[in-house]
Amino acid sequence: MTVTQLPLMDVAGRAGRLRDRFGSATIDALLVTRLPNVRYLTGFTGSAAIVLVGPHDMVFVTDGRYAEQAVDQLGAADVPARIEVRTSQAGQRDVMRDAAVAYRRLGLEAHGVTWAQQRAFAADWFAGAELVATEHLVEDLRRVKDPAEVARIQAACAIADDALGVVAPRLAGRPTERDVALWLELEMRDRGATGTSFDTIVASGPNGAKPHARPSSRPIETREPVVIDFGCLVDGYCSDMTRTLSVGDPGPEVRRMFDVVRDAQQSGRRVVKASADCAAVDKACRDVIEAAGWGDAFVHGTGHGVGLEIHEAPRVAATARDTLASGYVVTVEPGVYLRGTGGVRIEDTVVVTDDGAEVLTRFPKDFLL
Ligand code: ZN
Ligand code: ZN
Repeated sequence: MTVTQLPLMDVAGRAGRLRDRFGSATIDALLVTRLPNVRYLTGFTGSAAIVLVGPHDMVFVTDGRYAEQAVDQLGAADVPARIEVRTSQAGQRDVMRDAAVAYRRLGLEAHGVTWAQQRAFAADWFAGAELVATEHLVEDLRRVKDPAEVARIQAACAIADDALGVVAPRLAGRPTERDVALWLELEMRDRGATGTSFDTIVASGPNGAKPHARPSSRPIETREPVVIDFGCLVDGYCSDMTRTLSVGDPGPEVRRMFDVVRDAQQSGRRVVKASADCAAVDKACRDVIEAAGWGDAFVHGTGHGVGLEIHEAPRVAATARDTLASGYVVTVEPGVYLRGTGGVRIEDTVVVTDDGAEVLTRFPKDFLL
């Protein structure tokens, strides 16, 4: 699968599935303001738009910068929305006020609306309606990826695999962490990615003890662990992979860290399948690391959903109450971090299936270069 042969997505069917949730959320309509959700429902990729999803219709408002793009993208996705272009706030308000006038209970996305916006909506935009704080109505739909979405994530993962294949051998030349991050981005873009899916982490030696270290100008030395956590975007969808590499033998302690984390990661991955609890995946990883005496050094959750956002539902953590379902795309990424020594993390992005996990990040997990 290359980025030029991606299958078409059925975007137009998504609003219907969202409307099916209005009853349990006790709302007549939903004002969608979070951009990844706007994109999911309409195919629009611009940086400013609001969508009012009513029981039978959809009103899409953007500003003058996106007049042409909105018509093109919603048209290409066959999304039956009324598109309105208003560049002023007051103009956008008037469109939405008129469109929402019949709704008694109007849902807002509680995680995407600022305090200032809520005040304006309540006092000015929708003064006649009861505003209802909704939780993750669109995000929950986004958990299950359809085959066209999986194809995009898979393409992004394959590009990242290839990029690391080109860059990993160069670690022997004492590049800086920043060099490596830049090379990975160049190689991914060169293969059709539109950018990185998050800021690349390249953390060598003691820097690896910080799970989210920023790449620095530190040269990568031989015989030390290098945590490389990175991904790219293909048609808006993210990939996410971590490998830990070392140029030459890093000694018994780091070798043991690596063996323990690899075993933990494999044991977590084996628990992944439809109807498994996210907490059980976390426990499978954590048990291995705790048995090795490093429970306190595994300082984060085991994973997260991946899609239009790099971190999305569900969380894969000890306190998570979510259950996996077929079509979810999640990461499994245990790690051990020792101050002064460094870190080891191994992360795959996988698709949940009825009987297991299909691993999309295929780069080998061998440690030594
Ligand atoms: Zn990652
Ligand atoms: Zn991750």
